[in-house]
Amino acid sequence: MPDLNECQICGAPAPLVPGHCDGVAGYRLIRDPWAERPAFFDGNVHFSCLARSDKHVVFVEEFTHMLQAGHEEVQSLDGSPPPLTRMGLGMAEIFAGAECRVYRSGVADRWMVVSHSGPWVQLGPDDLAQVARGGTPLSPANVFPYRLPKDLEGIASYDLQGLLTALGVADRYGSPETLAQIEYEFVDYYPPKRLLEYVVRVPLAVPQEARAFLAEYAEHYTPVSFEDEE
Ligand SMILES: [Zn+2]
Repeated sequence: MPDLNECQICGAPAPLVPGHCDGVAGYRLIRDPWAERPAFFDGNVHFSCLARSDKHVVFVEEFTHMLQAGHEEVQSLDGSPPPLTRMGLGMAEIFAGAECRVYRSGVADRWMVVSHSGPWVQLGPDDLAQVARGGTPLSPANVFPYRLPKDLEGIASYDLQGLLTALGVADRYGSPETLAQIEYEFVDYYPPKRLLEYVVRVPLAVPQEARAFLAEYAEHYTPVSFEDEE
């Protein structure tokens, strides 16, 4: 069984950092083009590894199909019956450009910008407003749990650069300048399970073509819901 905490492409530790490393759950039933045997993608992925790999084309095709699908049947890995079923995210494509596509949820005020090379970012209504003002949205202050591959002495005092360097993966997340722009906060550490909890707030890079589209779009879209469904 592959470790969900590891990057499913390079196998190195992959703590989640929006815009730089994200995860796809196995129940989404997206085929894993990097697996040696037929498998569904299940776990984290460094976006730099994704963009660098030729197989991202296959992955992006499946991923964006899943984003737009409703409840549907998916062939099992060995083609044997019964077929599997999954819930897609039911999003609609609202923009396709040279670098990326933009999808909109039909049930919540939420958008996804998916680069043709693989990386994606999620945006909420505040982010859309921020983009419309010409600003850079920050990812929400969610708490991310991460099981460390080894104990790190004094973990509470690490910053993000220090943490990723100790895990040997800082280069997969970006330059020191990029990492310095990410707010990182240690929340908790549970030694018996080596479980780290942290908050990161990341300036979300949205390609210029999508920014231009969303700025225009923000002026006349009708909100689906005023509830905060984050
Ligand atoms: Zn990787």
